[in-house]
Amino acid sequence: MVIERPEGLFCPNGGFYIDPWGPVDRALITHAHGDHARTGSQRYLCAEPSRRLLERRFEPGALIESLPYGEAVTLGEVRVSFHPAGHILGSAQIRLEGSDGVWVIAGDYKRAADPTCTPFEPVPCDTFVTESTFGLPIYRWDSTGLVIGEILEWWEANRQTNRTSVLFCYTIGKVQRVLAELAAVSDRPAYVHGMMLSMIDAYREAGVRMLPVSSATEQPKSTRFAGELVLAPLSARGTPWMRRLGDHSDAFASGLMRVRGVRRQRAFDRGFVLSDHADWPTLLEAIEETGASRVLATHGHADPLARHLREQGYEAGVIRTAWEGEPTGD
Ligand SMILES: [Zn+2]
Ligand SMILES: [Zn+2]
Repeated sequence: MVIERPEGLFCPNGGFYIDPWGPVDRALITHAHGDHARTGSQRYLCAEPSRRLLERRFEPGALIESLPYGEAVTLGEVRVSFHPAGHILGSAQIRLEGSDGVWVIAGDYKRAADPTCTPFEPVPCDTFVTESTFGLPIYRWDSTGLVIGEILEWWEANRQTNRTSVLFCYTIGKVQRVLAELAAVSDRPAYVHGMMLSMIDAYREAGVRMLPVSSATEQPKSTRFAGELVLAPLSARGTPWMRRLGDHSDAFASGLMRVRGVRRQRAFDRGFVLSDHADWPTLLEAIEETGASRVLATHGHADPLARHLREQGYEAGVIRTAWEGEPTGD
């Protein structure tokens, strides 16, 4: 059904690529993160809620078509449909049905509840292509409520000592999830780096309820941020932009904060383990629920996951991506 080409995963019977890393004629996109949604292709197809994010990400005038979750179209000889992946707004597993049976390309996904997107839905298939970003038994996430509680406590403790709380997180998905989770337990407004505003607006337009925010970048020079929460992308860390924030404590919200080496090397004051990827138990659960007899792992710890699955009696292999070896994961 799909083969590996230099530009990415290609479906010959359908004439399209899935999340290609080079420009192609027709690209099906699982979600709006940069390692999946690359600019430069002739036309794109995505799940309907992903569209407003891709429109902001791609060059003006890019040809982006979308389908509601669960609705099928036929491309070439293949029936194609998008199903919720629970990773970020609009994220989708792509189901392909043709003469080679049913394949599901899951993209990135998680099982944990997330107020910013439609929950992951197991889709029955013969072959399941799964991510394995955190595909090792050491990766197990605490409940989101617990992590949000830790963030609130940290913010409060910094308020008591007149410091700014600077929380680094990804611009698509993570910052909105944190703001949505905080909105359920607080109504205190937050500040964000100006770069984050456009994607936060896109989520608001999609009906996601989040804490009110204003841009820390556009405040007058005299503004004091002591006691406030400021969310910023990692790229802002150590830049002159940080100076306006005054005395601060910094933290990173990511599944990577479970990795001791990353924690030590990046030297944040705090690490909050909050991931938009499945942990080890929920990866295995998702794989089992598809009923697939064949599983192909990609992204991250693909080899150990495939080995484990073979021991469990699956036919399992690995798909290499252009990103192999890069420490990614949110
Ligand atoms: Zn992603
Ligand atoms: Zn990814």
